[in-house]
Amino acid sequence: MSTLEIRDLQVSVKLPEGELKPILAGVNLTVRSGETHAIMGPNGSGKSTLAYSLAGHPKYEVTAGSVTLDGQDVLAMTVDERARAGLFLAMQYPVEVPGVSVANFLRTAKTAIDGQAPKLRTWSSELKGAMERLHMDPAFAQRNVNEGFSGGEKKRHEIVQMELLKPKIAVLDETDSGLDVDALRVVSEGVNRVRDTGETGLLLITHYTRILRYVKPDFVHVFVAGRIVEEGGRELADKLEEEGYERYLAGAGPAN
Ligand code: ADP
Ligand code: MG
Ligand code: MG
Repeated sequence: MSTLEIRDLQVSVKLPEGELKPILAGVNLTVRSGETHAIMGPNGSGKSTLAYSLAGHPKYEVTAGSVTLDGQDVLAMTVDERARAGLFLAMQYPVEVPGVSVANFLRTAKTAIDGQAPKLRTWSSELKGAMERLHMDPAFAQRNVNEGFSGGEKKRHEIVQMELLKPKIAVLDETDSGLDVDALRVVSEGVNRVRDTGETGLLLITHYTRILRYVKPDFVHVFVAGRIVEEGGRELADKLEEEGYERYLAGAGPAN
C-alpha cells in the first residue's frame, strides 16, 4: 500500500525572461494505491502544471509545499529517481526519443525501475500480451519512441508502459484527448486493468468527462485557478458534464 501526498503545493512556471509566473496556488491531494482520482478543470487552470511538477520538469519551480511518496521527499528526487520510486507520469505531449525503439525503451525503463533486467522470454511475452490487449500492431514495438506517433498511438504506448511498469502511483494527463470512440474504449480498458490490480493509485487529469464514462473514479476533484475548489465522488463528474465549469469561473468559488 503506497500513498502520494501533495501538501500546499505552490508552483510557478519559469518564463523565458527568468521571471516566475505563479500557477499552482496551494494544492492538497492524497492518492493511495488502489484508488482512482479524477482531476477535472477548465483549460488553463494548471492541471498540466501539476503533472509536470510531479514529473520534475525543469520549467516549473516549486515555491512552497511538499510532495511525498510513502514519506519520501519526491521533490528532492531526480526524474529517474521518481520513476524508480514507483511514480509513473505520462505527459500530455510526450517527447520523441530518437533512435530508441519502443521495445528497447520499455525494457530499459523496466530494468531501471526493477534494478535488474527482466528475463528475456517472459518479458517478450509480457510485451506481446500488453500490446495485443491494446490492439496494437506487433510492428509498433520496432518503431522509435514517439516518432511520428498519432495521438492514439501515443496514448496506447502510455498505457502499455503503465501495464508493464506496474507503478505505485500513475498520473495520466489528458489521456482521453484526441481519441476516437473506439480508441478511447481500448485505452480505458487498459486503465481499468491497471485499476483492477488494486496495486496502483491512478490520478486521471482531464478537461472532459469522456474517459469517466469508461473509467469510474472513486474521487473527483474540481481544479480551477491553480487549486482544488470542490471534491466529491463520481457523481460530481456527472454534474460537471451537465453544468460545465461556468459556475466555478464566476469568481465566487463553488456555489453551494
Ligand atoms: P491546463 O493543463 O489546466 O490547461 P496548464 O498547466 O497547461 O493548464 O497552464 C496553466 C497556466 O499556466 C496557463 O495560464 C498557461 O498559459 C500558463 N503556462 C503554462 N506553461 C507556461 C509557460 N511555459 N509559459 C507561460 N505560461 C505558461
Ligand atoms: Mg491545456
Ligand atoms: Mg493540460
